[in-house]
Amino acid sequence: MAATGEIQPAKHQEVGHKSLLQSDALYQYILETSVYPREPESMKELREVTAKHPWNLMTTSADEGQFLNLLLKLINAKNTMEIGVYTGYSLLSTALALPEDGKILALDINRENYEIGLPIIEKAGVAHKIDFREGPALPLLDQMIEDAKFHGSFDFIFVDADKDNYLNYHKRLIDLVKIGGVIGYDNTLWNGSLVAPADAPLRKYVRYYRDFVLELNKALAADPRVEICQLPVGDGITLCRRIS
Ligand code: SAM
Ligand code: CA
Repeated sequence: MAATGEIQPAKHQEVGHKSLLQSDALYQYILETSVYPREPESMKELREVTAKHPWNLMTTSADEGQFLNLLLKLINAKNTMEIGVYTGYSLLSTALALPEDGKILALDINRENYEIGLPIIEKAGVAHKIDFREGPALPLLDQMIEDAKFHGSFDFIFVDADKDNYLNYHKRLIDLVKIGGVIGYDNTLWNGSLVAPADAPLRKYVRYYRDFVLELNKALAADPRVEICQLPVGDGITLCRRIS
């Protein structure tokens, strides 16, 4: 316990770094010891610019950015997709991890927010890896499904957009990711609300998406085409490795 008068570290759930760890101090320790000292300058700059944006709650946390970056290197990802870009923090962590000829198909309905981060991504020298498409992801995935050349073509896909569509995405992405490739579904612990009592005072959007996340988690756990691992990083990420 801190002595009276001592400055307390920020409550991360209040500032948008959604940690499900029981102690803010422990999360702060992780950030200060292992994450911030190793965070590339460009990611730091994008994180700080995003923190001033009114929707900053949506950004990927620095520890999750570090996790994604390392994961992509571990699996030697080259051809990737991201659904849900916002200002581009996870996109930049992906772009920095990929080889020079790596690719990210980046989908978002909002180009304006992507353009907040774009100058920083350009300055980092990785913008050439990104193919940004503005618009809803689902119709584009349907187009790709029609074309055999996209089947089994992605090494990694990060899904961080409209939670009520995750199962619709999964139906398509399972064909687009290669066997042995990985899909990462973000926010699968949904603010801890999955285990909240029925009468808990949840924010409206948390309550709305909660049932979709519960349904997704059940469906992924029962899907024999993937091996899964749900990690309590950020707001929870479920990794699915396609096996058939
Ligand atoms: N990965 C991002 C990051 O690291 O900052 C955060 C993404 S944010 C949580 C969710 C994003 O999904 C928003 O930018 C929103 O515009 C986008 N989105 C919502 N519905 C979408 C849809 N149907 N298709 C594509 N993008 C969508
Ligand atoms: Ca997220």
